[in-house]
Amino acid sequence: MDYALSEQQQAFRETAMRFAKEKLAPHYQKRASEDRIDRALMKEMGALGLIAPDLPEQYGGLGESSVTAGIIIEQIAYGDFNASYVPLLASLMGGMLAQHASPDIAQEWLPKVTAGEAIIGLGLTEPRGGSDAANLILRAEKSGNGYRLNGEKTSISFSDQCEAAVIFARTGKVEDGARGVSAFFVDLNQNGVTRTHFDDIGTKPVGRGSIFLDDLFVPAECLMAEENKGFSKIMTGFDFSRALIGLECLGPAQASVDESWHYTTERNAFERPIAQFQGVSFPLAEAETQLTMMRQLCYFTLSLRDRRLPHTAEAAMCKWYVPKVACEIIHQCLLTHGHYGYTTDLPFHQRYLDVMGLQIGDGTAQIQKLVIAREKVGRVAVQYARQP
Ligand SMILES: Cc1cc2nc3c(=O)[nH]c(=O)nc-3n(C[C@H](O)[C@H](O)[C@H](O)COP(=O)(O)OP(=O)(O)OC[C@H]3O[C@@H](n4cnc5c(N)ncnc54)[C@H](O)[C@@H]3O)c2cc1C
Repeated sequence: MDYALSEQQQAFRETAMRFAKEKLAPHYQKRASEDRIDRALMKEMGALGLIAPDLPEQYGGLGESSVTAGIIIEQIAYGDFNASYVPLLASLMGGMLAQHASPDIAQEWLPKVTAGEAIIGLGLTEPRGGSDAANLILRAEKSGNGYRLNGEKTSISFSDQCEAAVIFARTGKVEDGARGVSAFFVDLNQNGVTRTHFDDIGTKPVGRGSIFLDDLFVPAECLMAEENKGFSKIMTGFDFSRALIGLECLGPAQASVDESWHYTTERNAFERPIAQFQGVSFPLAEAETQLTMMRQLCYFTLSLRDRRLPHTAEAAMCKWYVPKVACEIIHQCLLTHGHYGYTTDLPFHQRYLDVMGLQIGDGTAQIQKLVIAREKVGRVAVQYARQP
């Protein structure tokens, strides 16, 4: 395997790193207490080509690789975890639209996404639960030259900020499970849509909430992929976001470790820098080891995707393992800073709360392990769970 970055990837990395260190990191905590994403920063990211460069050029992307998208997301998350939700969601949802939406919809919306002028949300989870995602009930009934949508999606990132969303709805019978689900592109700025905002413990600028659709008419051209095939065709996009989420969670963990190394050389106890105590340096050395291994796994998974090779199990590994270990590393870094680490002057508590959300979002660790088991021994591992 070739692990070297191309010149182009190196340039993206440096641009993203500079933007993260100069523009994002200094005010990460201040922005983290706000309940809106900073739209001006989003547009700056877009102007620098940092939002979904993996999308095709005809839709405002740069035709770059999945690995390049990952490189950028890791760097942005190093400076501001919340800001990194923008390129992450743009790559996931943008990829879905580029592949499965009508060319007119893709042409209208994707250039706005890559420019940082629009957010497209993902509407999958419903109040009765997210793990058994195919068992959804939000209804789409045929009506004239389109569909009428009725029901509630909940726990949706950017619920009250996204301009549009891909909504998964039941078009077939409940007994059909995943085979009766379709996906629709829905412009949310219209009558028939109401939204709520949860009071979350982290990722406040992203925010989550419910989206209610009340007899909302969507034209037939908003159907993505084929009717009743929405689930099987579109869910493969999650193999992409799961590897990207791994890199997103790595960013703040690496930032915490970098800051902790620095602190160990400046802070003295027993008349010497605390770096001299192996009880202090070894946990950081262990964290560096874990970060290096996890980074390799995430980029390996993305490189499999770029080479169009199977990567479902690897993506699930990224998704369950990295957010969990990243939280453990950030916790350790807080402790390395002693009483000072327990204040809100330092960013460790904020990073911890922000990253923790992705131990749940996009599927919990248990669900990812079911995916890995299914990839290894087949559907016998998940028959009771009706997993996609
Ligand atoms: C920060 C964040 C962002 C999110 N963003 C979005 C979004 O943009 N769009 C969207 O649609 N959803 C989003 N979600 C929802 C998320 O995908 C769901 O919360 C997740 O899939 C779990 O569903 P649930 O919360 O209903 O838990 P449940 O499905 O009710 O599960 C509860 C617990 O039971 C466990 N469990 C369930 N089934 C099994 C099983 N078969 N074996 C073992 N354990 C099991 C779960 O792991 C979990 O611990 C987000 C969630 C969070 C926290």
